[in-house]
Amino acid sequence: MTPAGADAARFAADLIRIDTTNRGGGDARERPAAEYVAARLAEAGLEPVLLESAPGRANVVARIEGAGSDGAGVGAGAGAGALLLHGHLDVVPADPADWSVHPFSGEIRDGVLWGRGAVDMKNADAVLIALAAEWARSGRRPQRDIVLAFTADEEDTAAFGAQWLVERYPELFEGCTEAVGESGAFTFHAGAGQRLYPIASAERGTAWLKLTARGRAGHGS
Ligand SMILES: [Zn+2]
Repeated sequence: MTPAGADAARFAADLIRIDTTNRGGGDARERPAAEYVAARLAEAGLEPVLLESAPGRANVVARIEGAGSDGAGVGAGAGAGALLLHGHLDVVPADPADWSVHPFSGEIRDGVLWGRGAVDMKNADAVLIALAAEWARSGRRPQRDIVLAFTADEEDTAAFGAQWLVERYPELFEGCTEAVGESGAFTFHAGAGQRLYPIASAERGTAWLKLTARGRAGHGS
């Protein structure tokens, strides 16, 4: 495993151990996870801001300055606007009785990381933090500005998270022309040992309905 890969696994396990269950109605508590993320980003030399929308509800935003047109940066994007990469810190509820591994243990078993948030989406949060750490280690910089945002309340209404952030602190997202978030699609098994992770564009939306399901609990959505 690469150092960045090892970082990502460790960060994801640590985040899973911080219970950020969101049952809706404003009861979640993302602040400990936000503090964890802010501390890791500060270690990577960034200056994250931690913004509390309500007691215990917190968001983190940091900007990585792009190298711009001097050509010193890595990858495409010279002259492009800033790119927003965002993840949420809350998770849907998990009843330990339904799990073969405790949902907040962050245990790695048989080479697989277990726990609530391992796929939605503390894994992706961890990858973003690991990327910042890797760039700090190697001295690499992106061409364009990268804005990293870690939000509260995605699993409910986002009133304490993304919505609150863009209404109160739009300047943090200044210059962003594109954003990448979660759930392009789920893993597609293309053949033996071949996994594809599709990217979807602007496909998410909201449709409220009331549904009663009986059986073993899975993801809330
Ligand atoms: Zn999610």
